[in-house]
Amino acid sequence: MGRTQEELRAMRGKVLATEAEIDRLHEELDHVSAQARHDLLTGALNRKGLDEAMVRELAEVRRKDTPLCVALLDIDNFKKLNDARGHATGDAALAHLAAVTRESMRPQDSLARYGGEEFVIVMPDTELAQGINAMTRLQRELTKRFFLAGEEKIIITFSAGVAQLASGETAQEAINRADQAMYLAKRAGKNRVMGA
Ligand code: GH3
Ligand code: MG
Ligand code: MG
Repeated sequence: MGRTQEELRAMRGKVLATEAEIDRLHEELDHVSAQARHDLLTGALNRKGLDEAMVRELAEVRRKDTPLCVALLDIDNFKKLNDARGHATGDAALAHLAAVTRESMRPQDSLARYGGEEFVIVMPDTELAQGINAMTRLQRELTKRFFLAGEEKIIITFSAGVAQLASGETAQEAINRADQAMYLAKRAGKNRVMGA
């Protein structure tokens, strides 16, 4: 009898240990799959994360018939910053931009790193004019929250294009239109936001 109880206790202990191990593995799995969707340097979504976010958002748009904007922003003269201060400082500037952007976005917006120094911001429930305003606000925010490279204050500027998703348009088509508008913003002198 005594021995059976002891065995039972031991088994319970093993079950608890196994459950703890399963919890730990679940956490690890969550962590790994979150990493698979995010860019390590900036914490923004990567391309895969962006694709998934767009699939989700487009389903919402079709269900509720709400507007959605995508913005594509590209840092101005980033190569110059890299060349003058080194790649590590460039990396820190990218992380800074992402942090300031996240703080100025609404919780329902998504930030993705689209390429080296290019980011996409997805803004659900947003008309074109509001999307342009949001990006202009971010530009202002970046002049206030300058980036510190050692002792020196560096103001990061960007050029951006904003497109409101048109009916029947794919996410990629809207991003491409935002990209074309961004290119026009560069051509017009940089540090500006253009609607597509
Ligand atoms: P523009 O104003 O026309 O956008 O000029 P730019 O210099 O910003 O653009 P360009 O495309 O000529 O250069 C982009 C630079 O971004 C070149 C590349 O070395 C740098 N870059 C891309 N990815 C990273 C990164 O992860 N870290 C750092 N530090 N630099 C990066
Ligand atoms: Mg670029
Ligand atoms: Mg650039």
